[in-house]
Amino acid sequence: MKKQINSTRVPVYRDSGFAMRDSGEMGEAFRLENEHKREPSHYIYSRYRNPTVVAAEEEVMRQEGCQWALLTQSGMSAVDVALSLFQRGPETRPWLFFTEIYGGTISFIDSVLVGRRGIDVQRFAPEQNGYDIKMLESVLTSLQPELVYLETISNPMLVVADGAAIIKLCKALGIKTIVDNTFATPYLWKPLDDGADMVIHSATKYFSGHGNLTAGVVCGNDPVLLEQAVAYRKFVGHMLSPDDAYRLHTQIQTFGLRFPQQCSNAAKLAKLLENTPVIEKVWYPGLKSHATHNIAEKLFKGLGYGAMVTFSFAGDNDEIKRLRRDTFIDSVSEKIKLVPTLGDPHTILMPVEPVWGNRYPDPGMIRLSVGFESSDQLLDTVQTAIGEII
Ligand code: PLP
Repeated sequence: MKKQINSTRVPVYRDSGFAMRDSGEMGEAFRLENEHKREPSHYIYSRYRNPTVVAAEEEVMRQEGCQWALLTQSGMSAVDVALSLFQRGPETRPWLFFTEIYGGTISFIDSVLVGRRGIDVQRFAPEQNGYDIKMLESVLTSLQPELVYLETISNPMLVVADGAAIIKLCKALGIKTIVDNTFATPYLWKPLDDGADMVIHSATKYFSGHGNLTAGVVCGNDPVLLEQAVAYRKFVGHMLSPDDAYRLHTQIQTFGLRFPQQCSNAAKLAKLLENTPVIEKVWYPGLKSHATHNIAEKLFKGLGYGAMVTFSFAGDNDEIKRLRRDTFIDSVSEKIKLVPTLGDPHTILMPVEPVWGNRYPDPGMIRLSVGFESSDQLLDTVQTAIGEII
């Protein structure tokens, strides 16, 4: 094709391998490849690096304000990349995980890190719905872990960790921190600015924002971690596909419009639910009644409180609570679907008990992932459904 095409889109390079001019260039490409830079001097093979993926990574870097971002095929592969860099054989010190983290990450810890890799995993649980920093300090001092892993906003109780204080404490003790910032996003907080070593996201959620792809990303500023992460991603093959990178590259450009709208819708919905007698409790960090409201206010500087809202139906017994929950789900079902993910354009929901079992005591609980649809329509849908509950 000779004609010049004046495209404003990033091209989708679907090559598995890239052509070299001659054996001299091939030798040079492989020699430089071993430096594991973020952007290679030569593209060799798409499992190593791909130009469409690199273009999407640069969009993530703009959002995070960081030195490097590496995309992977899922949030879980991003978790694997970030953690695996600290596995150094028998001398690896314990890894400390906050307990209120994504269920898939807990399964990965139990079956892969502990079950197969034999990592010494320790856990840190909240006290009365919030993390006790003093207690953390004493655990860190006696355990001397290699790393601390936490999520900024937990799921489904939306407990906000005092991220900046936790990172500061870890830094003072020479402990690395990895923050899964999927729920908070860089719009609310940038953990790297406060000194975190790496941030991960399930880009399946707010970064892509349309429920149409699966991706993950590891972000950082440290060039040594970058080289190790590029190499690890290459060796285990956790690379994102160029087609998904293209869509992420496009969709992340509206992140800064979508997410504030989602936070604003969530805040309105949380307020409405809190003022509804048939609702027993609402968990939303923007409400004063939330156990970690003050931490959220400090960490997110009033920008918002996220786009997840959890609430439970009142009732004299568990059967009434379940009945009310299911009546609500049934009446909103045209507009609010039961979809086991979050960060979609439209509001979606998950009943808590069928997914988390009896981990949370209230069977009337529902977790909403609030979308960026018109808030009037959303509030109307919820209000109408609640009106049908007796
Ligand atoms: N981290 C968090 C906080 C999540 O909620 C999820 C998935 O829901 C993941 C990581 C894993 O992401 P993925 O499903 O893209 O692998």
